[in-house]
Amino acid sequence: MKRRDFVKALSAAVLSGSNSLWADDGIDSAGEIIKDAKPTYRGGTPYIKDGKIIQPQREIPVIRDTDVLVVGGGCAGVIAALAARRAGVKVTLVERYGCFGGLWTAGLVLPVLATHKKTPAGRIKMIHGIGDELLARIHKVRNGTIYYSDSAPQDALTDPEITKSLIADMLREEGVDILLHSWVTNAVMDGTDVKGAIFESKSGCHAVRSKVVVDASGDGDLYDAAGAENVRHIHRIGLVHRLGNMGDATSIKGLKLGNKTPTAGVNWVNMMGPYGDGLDVATLTQMELDDRQAIWASLMKIQNNEQTKNVFLLDVASQLGVRASRTLAGMHEMSLDEALAGKKHDDVVGVGGVYTFIKNHPVQIPYGALVPRRINNVLAAGRCVAADNKMMNYTRLIGPCLLTGQAAGAAAALAVQTKTNVRDVSIPRLQGLLKRQNVFLG
Ligand SMILES: Cc1cc2nc3c(=O)[nH]c(=O)nc-3n(C[C@H](O)[C@H](O)[C@H](O)COP(=O)(O)OP(=O)(O)OC[C@H]3O[C@@H](n4cnc5c(N)ncnc54)[C@H](O)[C@@H]3O)c2cc1C
Repeated sequence: MKRRDFVKALSAAVLSGSNSLWADDGIDSAGEIIKDAKPTYRGGTPYIKDGKIIQPQREIPVIRDTDVLVVGGGCAGVIAALAARRAGVKVTLVERYGCFGGLWTAGLVLPVLATHKKTPAGRIKMIHGIGDELLARIHKVRNGTIYYSDSAPQDALTDPEITKSLIADMLREEGVDILLHSWVTNAVMDGTDVKGAIFESKSGCHAVRSKVVVDASGDGDLYDAAGAENVRHIHRIGLVHRLGNMGDATSIKGLKLGNKTPTAGVNWVNMMGPYGDGLDVATLTQMELDDRQAIWASLMKIQNNEQTKNVFLLDVASQLGVRASRTLAGMHEMSLDEALAGKKHDDVVGVGGVYTFIKNHPVQIPYGALVPRRINNVLAAGRCVAADNKMMNYTRLIGPCLLTGQAAGAAAALAVQTKTNVRDVSIPRLQGLLKRQNVFLG
C-alpha cells in the first residue's frame, strides 16, 4: 500500500469509527504485506579493510529543504520552531524521540523555574512570549498546572502528558514540519557555513538542507559537529520518577517521597545523581541501570512503611537527566558575576526571572550567548548556550530555555529573511520582532 493510500485509509477508518484507532488487537488486524517496499537507505554496507571497519563513500538523500532547521524538540527547540514559523519562514523540527518537551516532559522535570521576579508586593512575571502562551494553555486544562498564577507562592509546575500534547498541537497549528524518531548525527558544511544536518532513523540516513540551524539538542550536538568551539562539562546526572497513591503522606524522614504535582495523589521525585559525562555512552548506560535500580530500592523502603505502603511507582522518566554536557564558546559568555551585578546588555533578547543563587536580580540574556564565534548559520538555544560554569546552572533552567529558544528562532528567521549571517543580524530589528512576539526585554 502506498503511503498516501495508507493515510487515506487510516483517516477513513478513524472518521467512520469502524476499525478505529482504538479497535482491539486480534488475528483480523494482521496488517498487510508491502510488495513494493523501497529498501531502507543506508548508503552502502561498511566493510573490513586491514582490520578496520570502513564506511563507503555515499550520497545522502535530501528529504527536506527548509529555511530554519531546529535540532531537538525540548522546551527550547519547540519555542524556537514556533518563533521562527510565526516570523514567516519554513521550519523543520527534528527530534530523536517520539514526543516534545525534552527534559521538561520525557525527563519528568516538572517545575518551570526562573519565570518571575519577587517584589514586596508579590511576584511579577518576567517570561512572557510564546513560552508563557504555552504555560497559559497548559493551565487551562484540568490538572495542567499548579502555582501558575502570579499570586502563587512559587513558579509553575506542569503535567508532562498535557504539556507534550499541547506542544504538538501548537506546532501543528503553526505548520511546523516535524520529523520525530530522527537522530541528528552530523552537520552538512560548506567551509565554515552550516548548510543542514544529517540524521538517522528507521528509514535510514537522510539530510535536511537549511539556511540556518538552531541547535536545541541540549548537548550542542549540531554546533559541535559543525566545528563551533564549545566547553565540555561533567555535571550531575539523575533520573526522575513519579509516585502514585500518595494519600496523606507528605514527608517522612529517610523516605524519598518527592513533591506534589498537578495530579492529586501523584508526586514527582527529583534525583541529583552522581557527576558524569553526559556524552559518554558507557556512562549513560551505567547511570540508567544504576538509577532504575535505586528507584526500586527507594520504592521498597517506601512500601515497607505503614503510612506509605500503598504508594506505587507511576513512571520513570524516559529521558535520562543530563544537566549539562556542552556549552557554546559564544560571542558572549554569560557569567554569574555579571548577573549578580545586574548587567544590562545592548543585545538583550530576553529577561529571565530570579532563582536561588541569582538572588533577586532578573537576568538579561544577550544575543551573543547564542552565537558561535566562527561558524556561520547556526545558533544555540536552551541549556547549551554560552554561560560560565556557574551561570549555566541558571541558563539551563526551563524558564531561561524558553527565552533562548524564542530568541534563536526569531533571529534565525530574520537571518533568512534579510539574507544575513546570524552574527550580523540587526539587533534593533531582532528586538522589535521579539517585542511583537510579546517578549519582555526589560
Ligand atoms: C534531574 C534534573 C532536574 C532538573 N530540575 C529542574 C527544575 O526543577 N526546574 C527547571 O526549570 N529546570 C530543571 N532542570 C533543568 C531543565 O530541565 C533542563 O535544562 C531544560 O529542560 C533543558 O531544555 P532544552 O530544551 O535545552 O534541552 P532538553 O530538554 O535536553 O531537550 C533537548 C531535545 O533534543 C533532543 N535531542 C538531543 N540530541 C538530539 C539529536 N542529536 N538529534 C535529534 N534530537 C536530539 C532530545 O531528545 C530533547 O527532546 C533539571 C534538569 C535535570 C536533569
